[in-house]
This record gives sequence, C-alpha cells and structure tokens, in this order.
Amino acid sequence: MGIDLRRLADTAFWVYTAGATTSLALAVYAFVNHGGFPSVSGSREWGLSTWEIAVFVMALTLIFGLFFTVPLLRKANLEQAKLTDHAAKLEVEVVTDPLTGLYNRRYFERALGEYIREFSRIKAPLALLTLDLDHFKSVNDTYGHDVGDIVLKELAKRLQQLTREHDIVARTGGEEFCIVAPFSREDQIRPFAERVCRMIAEMRVDVGQVILRPTVSIGVAATSDGIANAAQLLKVSDERLYEAKDKGRNRVVF
Ligand code: GH3
Ligand code: MG
Ligand code: MG
Repeated sequence: MGIDLRRLADTAFWVYTAGATTSLALAVYAFVNHGGFPSVSGSREWGLSTWEIAVFVMALTLIFGLFFTVPLLRKANLEQAKLTDHAAKLEVEVVTDPLTGLYNRRYFERALGEYIREFSRIKAPLALLTLDLDHFKSVNDTYGHDVGDIVLKELAKRLQQLTREHDIVARTGGEEFCIVAPFSREDQIRPFAERVCRMIAEMRVDVGQVILRPTVSIGVAATSDGIANAAQLLKVSDERLYEAKDKGRNRVVF
C-alpha cells in the first residue's frame, strides 16, 4: 500500500502553519515583554531568550516549508490532476464506440430517454433516424473487414458533419447508426433526413484498390407522430428502416 500523498501534504501544510503561528506568537510575546526589539549589542545572558526561540522556530518553519511542504503539495496536486484526467478519459471511453468515436448504444439509449422527456416538456418535436448501410456484407466479403471498417469510420465522420451540436449521433450496432435530432419545427424533419441520405450517397470512400460509394436506408420516427417513449420511437424507426430496405434501399421512410 502506497503513502497517501494528499494526506501527507495536508499534514505538512498544517505543521508548517503551526510553526509559523508559534514563531509569530513567540515574537509578539517577546516584543511585549521587552517593550520593543532586542538590541543586538545588548549583554548576553546564558540560555535562550524568547526572541531567539522565536527566530529559531521561524527558521525551522521556513526550512520545513521550503524543502518539504511546498514540494509535497506540488507533487500531491500533480498526482490529483493526473487522476482527474484519467477519470475523465475513462468516462469518455464508457460512452464511446472505439472504432468510430461516436457515442455507443449504452449512451444513446440513456440520452434518448432524457431528450424525449425534455422535449415533451417544452412541446418541441424530436426525430429519431435509424440508418443502416446497404449491402454492407458484400463490402466485407469483397474487400475485407479492414476496408469495411474504413467505410464505417468515413460514414461516422460524415454523420458528424451533417449534424448539429445538440444532435446525438451514435453507432448502435455493427453497421447501424442512430441520430436523435431535436427540431423547433416539425416540417424540418423530412428535409433533414433526406439531406442526410443524399449526402451519404454522394460520398466517395477511397480505400486504395477501389473507390466505394456507400448508401444507407433510413427509417424516421418523430415524437410529433404521437409517439411518447423511447422504446416505441426505436420500434417505429426500425420498422420504417426495413420498409426503406424493402422499397429498394438508399432512401428514407417516414
Ligand atoms: P442490408 O442492405 O440488408 O442492410 O444488407 P447488409 O449486407 O448491409 O446487412 P447484413 O446484416 O447482411 O450484414 C451486415 C454486415 O455488417 C455483416 C457484418 O460483417 C458487417 N459488420 C458488422 N459490424 C462490423 C464492423 O465493425 N466492421 C466491419 N468491417 N463490418 C461489420
Ligand atoms: Mg446493412
Ligand atoms: Mg444491419
């Protein structure tokens, strides 16, 4: 078990404070008792005067503070900063998909619930887009899994470019993504989803041996359809996604 640096630094700080206070109290006591500062040329008596003890304690305190307390406090603060940094990194890792850097399903489900609650409270519509890459298996089968991964990463980047700061973009499955987009107006939902679909179809992914042109199918469900909970919103957008697949892919179904 290692030493608790923070505790040691705090103790050192209190010892330092106690030393400083004691030497100050001794100095005040000596000042009052001698009616002023001592004269340097005054006759010497055996034993230490209160002044001398005060100066001695002050010197000890200064040395202790300079060579022990200050370095210890600095070290403890550095250690603390490292721990805070590490905790922040872990927190990000817990909610992030490692391949694409998007939010993962765990975060997405929690955030969707919170968004629905907030947006129903202010009576503003909220849209859920469920996207699935079309014929993605054949990309893997033809060019390999690594090339498939490049496509997933490029698609994630494009989705981030196409969305706004307050939208939630998540990778919710292997080649499935979700966007939660809050809207101030209901009539903005359709153009937004269509734009996402079109902009993805316009992507060109250069994977070295070939330039791929991925497309997605999108199912959209919105709270303005009278859907009030996350599970229902997910279910409806998923059904519409499969309808988009059935209708020939690279399209949006509302
Ligand atoms: P559809 O248009 O009907 O969606 O066809 P599809 O081929 O995209 O769908 P299917 O469900 O048959 O295949 C999904 C593929 O996604 C199969 C799987 O290997 C691939 N996949 C899932 N996760 C990953 C991943 O992390 N990396 C790569 N490269 N491929 C993945
Ligand atoms: Mg697919
Ligand atoms: Mg799929």
